[in-house]
Amino acid sequence: MSQRLVEAVSQVFGVGREAAEALLEKRVFRIMSYRGIVYLALRRDYGGHREGTVLAVGRREYRLVPGYPPISRVLVLSRAMPRHFVDKVVVEEKMDGYNVRVFMLEGEIYAATRGGYVCPYTTARIRRMYGPNLLDLFEEEGNSLIIVGEVVGMENPYTRFPYPESPGFAFKVFDIARNNSFVSIEERNKLVSRYGLDQVPVLGVVDKHDVAAVRRIVRSLEERGREGIVLKDPDYRVPPLKYTTGHINVEDLRLGMKFFFDEGRSFLFPRLLRQIFLAFEEGWSPSKLEAEARRLGEALLRPAVEAVHSVASNRGLYEEYVLVFQSEEEASEFEEYMSTLGVQIVRGQVTVHNGELRILYKKLKDTAVRIMNILETGISPLD
Ligand code: ATP
Ligand code: MG
Repeated sequence: MSQRLVEAVSQVFGVGREAAEALLEKRVFRIMSYRGIVYLALRRDYGGHREGTVLAVGRREYRLVPGYPPISRVLVLSRAMPRHFVDKVVVEEKMDGYNVRVFMLEGEIYAATRGGYVCPYTTARIRRMYGPNLLDLFEEEGNSLIIVGEVVGMENPYTRFPYPESPGFAFKVFDIARNNSFVSIEERNKLVSRYGLDQVPVLGVVDKHDVAAVRRIVRSLEERGREGIVLKDPDYRVPPLKYTTGHINVEDLRLGMKFFFDEGRSFLFPRLLRQIFLAFEEGWSPSKLEAEARRLGEALLRPAVEAVHSVASNRGLYEEYVLVFQSEEEASEFEEYMSTLGVQIVRGQVTVHNGELRILYKKLKDTAVRIMNILETGISPLD
């Protein structure tokens, strides 16, 4: 086992070397490597550190990257806003992608996903797109800063949501952590613009009693088919809250129900709850309720029935996405990473475009196997 890793664990968890070695045997730590670094991903909260924490160890130094905290969800805006906030509230767009923490270690930048894994694909794309800007930022503002943002667009292996302004790949900063706490929104805005980065849209700053203003913002997002908002105290005196549009609640269900054994079940109840309280807070009329019930029902049933037909007629049931690489080596590095994590993907069409490699991947879903079993036996796996 790497001595540098043992040394770092002993410092971070405040234990001796032997105890550190014993800790590393525990299942809560996943030991991984990426190019020149070894790192630990914390698989659940442990020893005062949050799930998803990364401990990355280089040749001379190490970096501790805390897990990103969960954000509580609002169901009733008119109740939550005035109770939770101090005075002012910054309304930011909540973008639908995946959470990425960018950190610097020994002159290189790395991108960690929510679970605490350094994703080779995300790292490579962020380096190409924002590498020099980020390196300047770390050099001038401190190399232990952590830049947190949402990767959005269609060219990624995790979550795809079409944003007209960022069709392929973009990293939208929403937080910057310094010494274990987030800097104010004002300071984040300054750093993002000074170093030419990109950030989530700030949609307004309102008084905590001005629920109507927030509702107007949500309505316009709803019309544009966007995900929702994150409400933040300008100085982080209280934690942020999130709120999503009715549109996205239903559209997530529609996507999830295509793979109903994989995502459908866990998606269902939380999103239903959101719609229930949305109907209450907005005071839906009987005709609005009827229209919404129909939309919801279709979102639940239609994709699921289509999935069964697709399996029954041997068309398979895959999640598909296109990734862009600079070289074959970069692609195989990503494929090895996915296989280390136990994710099965297969290559589809490969095209070369402007010196870049575009590879279509297909990810087989467990739902397909479950449907096959049901079609074969005729028996339900549930009661
Ligand atoms: P949680 O963060 O509560 O564990 P989750 O992982 O299911 O929940 P979401 O429901 O998508 O995630 O909501 C929180 C996430 O929203 C954040 O982790 C972050 O990735 C994303 N996000 C998008 N836009 C913003 C923003 N403006 N500010 C903070 N987070 C944002
Ligand atoms: Mg999200």
